[in-house]
Amino acid sequence: MTETNWLPIIDQAKCTGCGHCVSGCPTGTLSLFKHFAMIAKPESCTYCGICEMICPTEAISLPYEICWES
Ligand code: SF4
Ligand code: SF4
Repeated sequence: MTETNWLPIIDQAKCTGCGHCVSGCPTGTLSLFKHFAMIAKPESCTYCGICEMICPTEAISLPYEICWES
């Protein structure tokens, strides 16, 4: 299995500080700091995608890579 240390990307220009991602993250990775979401515990992120799905302003997103199987 390939291990990655990828993390969600937060666009502060779009973030309203609503906190939905913080309360929705099952691992406590995110927190609010100065009215913006931030990655507080990067080692805890499982890259599940919940934060991306629940953000109302598309401020948080998960970069991904397309892998071809041969
Ligand atoms: S859900 Fe989106 S807008 Fe709300 S705090 Fe998180 S990143 Fe910001
Ligand atoms: S991808 Fe999942 S574990 Fe990582 S910050 Fe978002 S909700 Fe939390």
